[in-house]
Amino acid sequence: MSCVFCDIVAGEAPAIRIYEDAEYLAFLDIRPFAKGHTLVIPKAHTVDLTDTPPDTVAGLARIGQRIARAARHSGLHADGNNIAINDGKAAFQTVFHIHLHVLPRRSGDKLAFAKNMVLRRDPDREESGRLLREALAELDKTP
Ligand code: AMP
Ligand code: ZN
Repeated sequence: MSCVFCDIVAGEAPAIRIYEDAEYLAFLDIRPFAKGHTLVIPKAHTVDLTDTPPDTVAGLARIGQRIARAARHSGLHADGNNIAINDGKAAFQTVFHIHLHVLPRRSGDKLAFAKNMVLRRDPDREESGRLLREALAELDKTP
């Protein structure tokens, strides 16, 4: 069965990559709810929380936490983050390769965030990606 996130892992579909290791990949959401909206996925295809091993879910959380921390220190100037996994169609899952959303938030961004939930656009995604990668690289320097 074809899977767009497996295509991204294989380099057969485009993505603005934020983080990668042997088991996981993080890239920007194509229709972001906020600047820097990132998806963290395991490279091995699993569908949702029913078939994903607990250790893999823990790995998603570990990387999501690091990206959330980077967002706070980045030029995106996040003051906080929403972290979410939509588990199943009933929970609004639309891509059936498990993924963790990291949504950088700003203090008082309620109206802008609500507007973005409709527009779902970041006119400068390349720059948002660069800012997150830069902040992650800075975090790597401090254990
Ligand atoms: P969910 O509703 O939790 O399944 O979220 C799936 C997310 O994947 C949505 O926010 C989509 O905008 C995002 N998405 C779908 N296709 C792509 C793609 N090719 N590259 C990046 N993000 C994507
Ligand atoms: Zn997949």
